[in-house]
Amino acid sequence: MLCCVRTRLAIAGAIVGSVCALGLLAMRLLPSLAAAEIGPISSSSLGVPSPAAMVSQSERPQAAAAQNPVYDVLADESVGAFDWLPPGPSRCTRRDRRRYCDGPLRAPRPHGVAAARALRLGLGTRQAWFRALSVEAPVAEWLAAIPSGELTDTLLWPVTEGFLGRGFGQRLHGDPKATPHPGVDIPAAAHSRVRAAADGLVVYASDGRHGYGNVVMLLHRTGYVTVYAHCSALLVFPGQLVERGARIAEVGKTGLAHGNHLHFEWRRRGHARSPLRRLVERPDHATEAQLANLQRARRREAEARLAELRARAERNAARRARRAAQHAPTSPSSP
Ligand SMILES: [Zn+2]
Repeated sequence: MLCCVRTRLAIAGAIVGSVCALGLLAMRLLPSLAAAEIGPISSSSLGVPSPAAMVSQSERPQAAAAQNPVYDVLADESVGAFDWLPPGPSRCTRRDRRRYCDGPLRAPRPHGVAAARALRLGLGTRQAWFRALSVEAPVAEWLAAIPSGELTDTLLWPVTEGFLGRGFGQRLHGDPKATPHPGVDIPAAAHSRVRAAADGLVVYASDGRHGYGNVVMLLHRTGYVTVYAHCSALLVFPGQLVERGARIAEVGKTGLAHGNHLHFEWRRRGHARSPLRRLVERPDHATEAQLANLQRARRREAEARLAELRARAERNAARRARRAAQHAPTSPSSP
């Protein structure tokens, strides 16, 4: 009997040993495979996720993935090491006598499994943006791509160092003819972290929507959509699955924005709704007041700097004009 048990233990040990050896071999091979698959998207290469792409997802060194490998958002530590897309033109335009630019684009180059997913599901395009904001039910395949997890209707306050600025539905300058605000504005310092309000799928991440600047749109399992606009940089690309709280962008003032802030929308079947009652982990009242004071001080400082630069430019222009007048050839005296 004892002999039989020993034999079984020996067989089990041998199996475990083989599995470990295979695991070690795989770990050695994976980095080279992962490095090989990162690159520009091409329709020919991304029709079906390649085994190498699958490897990339499991190999990516990220905290979120370590806890929950179904989410493939890039890790904070990889910020700065992105292969960025070319910035492209800023596409400036005017609205209400104000000039604004939707770019320059600052977004990582799509790659791997997420890029293949985006291609398969038709994400990241203008059509995807409008489809996600249409009154029709969300695309079933898009919803199916989001891993099942805890279903919650609460939304995480998207900028930890931000406070509530312009509220939902508020018309600009109280003008009754102005369009009601479809979201909330959260002013914060430039490049503050923007986090995902809930688990979701990146439907759009680019600068192609007028006035929004660099913008991310997420679809959540509840069928709701969240939008994060005016960002200075996007840290995700279409097709990626993001976990609640994951860093997805940085605060900026691209698009139709007066200062650095996040314009945050929460929509269902195209209709914007007030997210305020659902937002959790928002800074308390005193902290928000402090943040607002800090932001005002920053704005005053920036305005003073701008006024000084303008005054210096005017002084220089006047000096150049005086010099030009001194060195101008005197006109010949009339006979
Ligand atoms: Zn806004």
